[in-house]
Amino acid sequence: MTFPPARHAVVWLQPEAPPKPAVGAPCNGCGLCCLAEPCPLGMLVSRRRRGACRALRWDDVQARYLCGMVADPGGVTGVRQGWITAPLAWLASRWIAAGVGCDADLAAADTPPPG
Ligand code: SF4
Ligand code: SF4
Repeated sequence: MTFPPARHAVVWLQPEAPPKPAVGAPCNGCGLCCLAEPCPLGMLVSRRRRGACRALRWDDVQARYLCGMVADPGGVTGVRQGWITAPLAWLASRWIAAGVGCDADLAAADTPPPG
């Protein structure tokens, strides 16, 4: 049986970002999934299918990444009407499986800075 080649992506992480937990463990906001590739809603707001999601936000106080479409959909989209942003936040929470374990089967490795 042949498998498709593994995909690799270089992402820039906040130094204080927590390490990615095992698949199934509670999401700790490591941000790797959203930095590697946007979810369907992220593709919409990022207007691209690859690369970091533009809705991803770093929270200095909690030292973790947050989905901006859940935490501050108005700030991400510029739309302030709650009847529009509330369903978007609900959709985002479904995609990031809020309250459920990490479902991102990703492996992270340090990469030396370009030089
Ligand atoms: S779902 Fe997993 S990879 Fe994505 S932010 Fe949460 S812990 Fe990190
Ligand atoms: S969960 Fe939020 S931050 Fe992550 S890719 Fe989707 S929209 Fe972007």
